[in-house]
Parts: sequence; C-alpha cells; structure tokens
Amino acid sequence: MLQLPLLLVPSHNHIPLNHRANDFYFGFCKNFLNVNQMKAQLLVRVDKIENHPLRYTTVEDPKPESDQVLIKVKACGVCHSNLHMIEGEFKHFGIPSKLPLIPGHEVTGVIEEVGSLAEGVQRGDKVGVQVLWKTDGICEFCLSGRENLCLKRQTTGEVVDGGFAEYMVAPADFVHHLPENLGFEESAPLFCPGITGYHAVKKAKVRFGQRVAVIGIGGVGHMTLQFAKLAGAETIAVDQSEDKLKLAKDVGADHAFVADNVEAFVEKTGKPDVAFVHAPSQKAVEQALRLVKRGGTLLMGVCGNTLVSFPEEHSIVGSVIGTRQDMNETLKLASIGKVKVDWTTYKLSEVEDVLLKLKLPKEFRLFR
Ligand SMILES: [Zn+2]
Ligand SMILES: [Zn+2]
Repeated sequence: MLQLPLLLVPSHNHIPLNHRANDFYFGFCKNFLNVNQMKAQLLVRVDKIENHPLRYTTVEDPKPESDQVLIKVKACGVCHSNLHMIEGEFKHFGIPSKLPLIPGHEVTGVIEEVGSLAEGVQRGDKVGVQVLWKTDGICEFCLSGRENLCLKRQTTGEVVDGGFAEYMVAPADFVHHLPENLGFEESAPLFCPGITGYHAVKKAKVRFGQRVAVIGIGGVGHMTLQFAKLAGAETIAVDQSEDKLKLAKDVGADHAFVADNVEAFVEKTGKPDVAFVHAPSQKAVEQALRLVKRGGTLLMGVCGNTLVSFPEEHSIVGSVIGTRQDMNETLKLASIGKVKVDWTTYKLSEVEDVLLKLKLPKEFRLFR
C-alpha cells in the first residue's frame, strides 16, 4: 500500500493581492501594506481524507522572522505520514499541533527573502527543508548528536506550516543547500524518505556481509534498500505489489519476494540479521519478527506491537527521521549517484487525490 514519493509542484504563480483587486483603493492599500497572498492546501480539521479535510485556498504569505528565510516552494513530497496525521492517527503524538495547518514536510525551493540575523544563506539559494524544522539546541538529545529526538523539536507541516503551498518559512540554520547537480523534484523525497532510510540503516548498524530484509517498498523502503546495499549488505525486498518488487530490483535489491513467499526463501537460504519494517501494518511487524535470525535486529520505522521472545535475543530498534548531519550525508550520497529516487509529479491542487491514492488500493480508488 505504500506509494513511491509523490511530488507536488505549485502550479500557480505568486500573485500579489493588489494585482487582483478590482477596487483601486483596495489595491492601493494592499500594495502599500505589501500584503501578498499565496495558494495553499490548508488542513482545516482532522478527518478521513474522503471527507475533504483539506481546503485548496488562498492565504496570506508567511513572513520570515529575523533568523528565518522565506522559501518559494518548487516541490514537496507527499508522504504516508501526511495521511496518518490528517486522519488523526498521530493525535497521541500531539500533531497536528495547530489548525488550520499547511501540511507537507519534504520541501525544496529557492530562498526569496533572508531575515536580518540569518546567516549562511542568500537570496536565490536552492535549498530543502526536512521534517525537523527546528530544535531547542540545548537539551541532552541536541547536545549528544541526537537532535531528531529533541523534546522541543518542531516538525515541518505538523507543528508549523509546511510545503503544500507556494511559500513557507524555515529557520536559516535548518535549511540545507541542494547539491548543484540535483533538481528540485528529485531532491524533495530525500528530505523525508531519503533521510529516514539513511538514519534507519545507521541505527540498525548494518555492516558488510550481513543479510537484511526490507518490508514495504514505498518511499522509505526503496531508499533503505539502497543505503543497506551501500553499507555492504545483501538485501531482500518484501512487498505485496509486483510493481514495488520491480522497483526494488531496479534500485539494486539482491532478492525480491511477495510477503507470502519470503519466509520459505529465508528458511532455505538463511535468515536476515536485520529486518526493516516500513509498511504500516501489524502483519508486517509480525512477519519481520518471524524472519529475523536469533540475536538479530528488528528496525521499526512504523508503529506496531512487537512481542519479543526473550530466548531469541532480538533487538527492537526505533528510528525516526534524522539529524541535520544525516541530511547532509544523504544529500551527498545522492549527489555522487550512490542512491536514486523514483517519483511522480502532481499539481498542488491535486493533494487530496494523491493522498487518496496512497490510502486506497487501485481497485477501490474514488476520484471525484
Ligand atoms: Zn514524509
Ligand atoms: Zn533539544
């Protein structure tokens, strides 16, 4: 059910209000106040995507604070976790932490305005914003190289407005310059599936000669496969969809199986040292536990219940997004051609349909 990274490309130009106003005085006032408006997908309530909780509308442009930059969004990935948040499955994490909210957390674009205290960035720079929008920089997690766990972290498109819009703001310290040779569209998914897969492979301590299974070949899964391979592992892709298994092979998986067939394969040829769970399904979690060898590691990239049989000495490891250092390393590996992203583009106005595609198998899709 996981989908490849899907990208939204804003299809409307930045339209200053005064250009649209029919009334001369209204136009004059708006021009005087320099108030501009942008197109955005606004989450107005938490609800099933079929009930249209998003509104494609016009809102006031965000204004950067002194330590922030204003980014003209060029592309933004659409993620299964967008859907989880919109439908209320992340309420226990306290997100969305405000309404209305502009979702979208894997963003690329061009800096259009730089706050007076922002350093290291210039107007015209090509940058990206990952899920980690800002941290406090002073807690034990920030000080020990684990800023992704910061208790005061703010996440893009969840706690603060994100990239399903023509513009967004971000702290200058948390934007990442895009490598010269990467385009906006191919880079955007690196800012969530890319960094998530990279961090997960690091957390699972994958090393030379190990055998790993990746369950769920969606946005994150197809990146995890590539990073695990780079770390020297033999990789087994597992998914329900033949299309996804083909993608897995295309990005270098050594083996690819539908879920029903993989257990017989590992019984015969050897169980994996690490099983990554990137499919949001309890069945996938349970299968991962059956697959992984004694003393092996189950890497949880989704929520699920894990019943550990202690004599097996399994390690259960959680992994969530990554640090700015992880992001820089992910971008570097992509820029030197070590990993590649598969994506499809849609217009910003099509967010609801794209999320519906993520949610429903082809045969049940309902297009309005
Ligand atoms: Zn994401
Ligand atoms: Zn912190």
